[in-house]
Amino acid sequence: METYFIEISYLLASILFILGLKGLSHPETAKRGMHLAEFGMLMAIIGTLLHHEIVTYTWIITGLAIGSVVGLAMGLWVPMTAMPQRTALSHAFGAFAAALVGISEFYKVSVHGEHIDRITMSALGFEVMLGALTTTGSLLAFAKLQGMVRGTPMTYKGQNIFNMSLLAVTVGIFLYLIFVPTSMPLFFTMVGLSFVFGLLLVMPIGSADMPVVMSLLNSYAGLASAATGFVLNNKVLIIAGTLDGFSGFILSILMCRAMNRSITNVLFGAFGSAATATGAEDQQGTMREVALEDVGVQLAYANKVIFVPGYGLATAQAQHAVRELADVLEKRGVTVKYGIHPVAGRMPGHMNVLLAEANVPYSSLYELEQINPEFPTTDVAMVIGANDVVNPDARDNPTSPIAGMPILEVDRSKSVVVLKRGQGKGFSGLENPLFFKPVTGMLYGDAKDSLTRLVQAVQHA
Ligand code: NAP
Repeated sequence: METYFIEISYLLASILFILGLKGLSHPETAKRGMHLAEFGMLMAIIGTLLHHEIVTYTWIITGLAIGSVVGLAMGLWVPMTAMPQRTALSHAFGAFAAALVGISEFYKVSVHGEHIDRITMSALGFEVMLGALTTTGSLLAFAKLQGMVRGTPMTYKGQNIFNMSLLAVTVGIFLYLIFVPTSMPLFFTMVGLSFVFGLLLVMPIGSADMPVVMSLLNSYAGLASAATGFVLNNKVLIIAGTLDGFSGFILSILMCRAMNRSITNVLFGAFGSAATATGAEDQQGTMREVALEDVGVQLAYANKVIFVPGYGLATAQAQHAVRELADVLEKRGVTVKYGIHPVAGRMPGHMNVLLAEANVPYSSLYELEQINPEFPTTDVAMVIGANDVVNPDARDNPTSPIAGMPILEVDRSKSVVVLKRGQGKGFSGLENPLFFKPVTGMLYGDAKDSLTRLVQAVQHA
């Protein structure tokens, strides 16, 4: 009877995870998808707690209590702008759990002198290796994103060769253990090396590339969980881990495609280091500063305005202010649209999440391919804390490090207004020729502050 309930709850959980993922693929259904996945997780936990092999609930309840308190605190107090580092921490916890389960399984079987068959040892080694490297890799990603360690790539001569050799030794031990699964010292050497490899893997990657790395690490954590499922003969872990593993991998590929870069370039290219940050540094001309009141008048009498948000919108927390400005403009009969670049901000969907929080209707958000043809008929394209995603060098300069990256072509509009604090560069560290074009006016200041004052300026225009 109990086995029947467990199987049913696992089946329900798996179905809910799949439906949840499907829901997450569209902003309009994302919230419902999230709730379905949460309910699925509850089902999986209930099913697991019914297991007859559980001898005491003390430690389980202790873990559940600690995890719930930490999770609740993270959910309540971590701001939206810190979401990437929050995700990195979650990955570290999940991967550490997978590694610990693998280590305890190996230890248990070894001390009892039982034999581990090759298939179980393959899954177990895979789980521990991926779990361990994801733990330290995610922790370093967290520290970089949180500014606890330098965010720029840390590189040295022969780094890739050293890292690859270390990986080869670790994999070598893993393969040996599949055939001779009796050596405890070798097993723990493999675990230790995997922990070290996680750090070395993330060290040469700049903090702005972290979202790609994290979705890769997410994918590793998922595969580690799937391997745990094989070791424990737990179907829901196999299904959920595989879904997690492959969705993370697909997301990494999509992000790389949106930046026109390869996964190897992200992992080994040390993008954002001094060596790679070359481009239109010899930019000629000056930036034209515009007065806030003039921009207010320009917006008030425009027919069509397109907002292009970027990372600065997130740091300024200007999503509510931009919505207010849009409301005021729409009341005056101005058509307002938002152009969303797939890698604007610092994580996939960053802009969508922020604008949804401010109740910007989803129907006003346009993807790159949809909005680009509209710029030539746009009176004002307002760039709000975006930089790289509107850099025309990506389109016009084949020698630029971001050449080929699809951009929002705001420079084709009748007028461009850029809201930023000063001369700060974007994530790529490159100069942006857009700011020097005659069509562009620079409105300096914090984005939220400028937008709030623009609301008043438009009302008084
Ligand atoms: P960006 O190129 O990083 O530029 C952000 C700009 O915002 C800066 O130039 C900064 O200039 C300005 N800014 C910062 N704080 C501000 C504030 N409080 N008020 C007003 N302006 C502010 O951002 P982006 O155009 O969104 O491009 C994203 C970059 O991240 C791309 O290069 C992309 O490839 C990379 N990336 C994104 C993802 C992802 O998943 N989204 C993943 C990996 C990499 P000032 O300092 O002068 O204000």
